[in-house]
Amino acid sequence: MPKAAETVLEINLNHLEHNYRYLKAKLEPNTKFLGVVKAFAYGSDSVRIAQKLEHLGIDYFAVAYVKEGVQLRDAGIKTPILVLHPQAGNFAELIERCLEPSLYSPKILKEFLEAAKTQKQTNYPVHIKFNTGLNRLGFWENDINYLKKHLSHQAEIKVVSLFSHLAASEDLEEVEFTKTQINTFLKIIEAFDKNLKYKPFKHLLNTSGIVNYPESQFDMVRSGIGLYGFGNEAMIDAQLKPVASLKTIISQIHKIEPGETVGYNRAFKTKQYRITATLPLGHADGIGRQYGNGNGFVRVNGQKAPIIGNVCMDMTMIDVTDIDCKEGDEVVVFGIDPSAEEFASTANTISYELLTGISQRVTRKYIDR
Ligand SMILES: *Cc1c(COP(=O)(O)O)cnc(C)c1O
Repeated sequence: MPKAAETVLEINLNHLEHNYRYLKAKLEPNTKFLGVVKAFAYGSDSVRIAQKLEHLGIDYFAVAYVKEGVQLRDAGIKTPILVLHPQAGNFAELIERCLEPSLYSPKILKEFLEAAKTQKQTNYPVHIKFNTGLNRLGFWENDINYLKKHLSHQAEIKVVSLFSHLAASEDLEEVEFTKTQINTFLKIIEAFDKNLKYKPFKHLLNTSGIVNYPESQFDMVRSGIGLYGFGNEAMIDAQLKPVASLKTIISQIHKIEPGETVGYNRAFKTKQYRITATLPLGHADGIGRQYGNGNGFVRVNGQKAPIIGNVCMDMTMIDVTDIDCKEGDEVVVFGIDPSAEEFASTANTISYELLTGISQRVTRKYIDR
């Protein structure tokens, strides 16, 4: 890869393939694999990621919203796409693009049935989402009778899967709670299957679920962060490869005399002579102000350089006093070292938030063999 000549998010599709194969090897041969490509495939590029995964033979995709699914269909993606959090206003478009809604409440079920009727659909594939303890989205266990009443005589739709989502699959202090979630899901499945003439497939696990509860993989797993190189625990992180690396360059170097300040609100003050470098990267690119004022650091020619002062909209200043560097040199914000998880932790957040926040202004570059 040539050195960065501007701020770029490098997307390594070989690493994606490695992660996919690594996670798939943890599954039973018949377990389907759903790749979660919501939020621009965790801040990378949903079309390129989906194309690569489709090529590798993935079974399903999931996005959060209808417009994300539309973008994939427009790019020629043929694999089934589950829309995790659709809204009724987009159902016409959803049906037109053969996107499969998660139905999570009586209201959304009713609205979807109306849309399916209006559009004269039969056996339109839908997925029923159950809340088993995350308390975010989903029918409750005691909605089963309601579902029985409203699903058994509806020719417009066909329930292709039942699913739920774990609240703390990465947290081994919450094993007891997770097991109650799994048991609730099992009870729901049993009650549901008794009432339907056909058997929908079932799925529960996200990435950390695959790692920690492989015995509950049911018929499919849903992985997002693992595909992008993170497993929420060091041992798994070591086996995965980060797909996204954020790189930039030094735009300008300044010599700062004692008593001077750097950046807005004069937030960085120095009593000593300092050398600073200005980077073409700011909070508009997804590196928030919480990384400033000495919290985050980047790598310049392999050396650690702290982010000083307030992160600006389009620029960030770093301290390179002890680093041999010049204008135009490459700077690694995150990638292998520091990893996105490590960089995120300097601002008390997680890789998910950092990755999905890298804005569309940042140029994407692809590595594929
Ligand atoms: C985002 C999401 C996932 C993916 O979770 P990861 O921890 O990134 O693997 C799976 N299922 C649902 C319902 C989600 O919203």
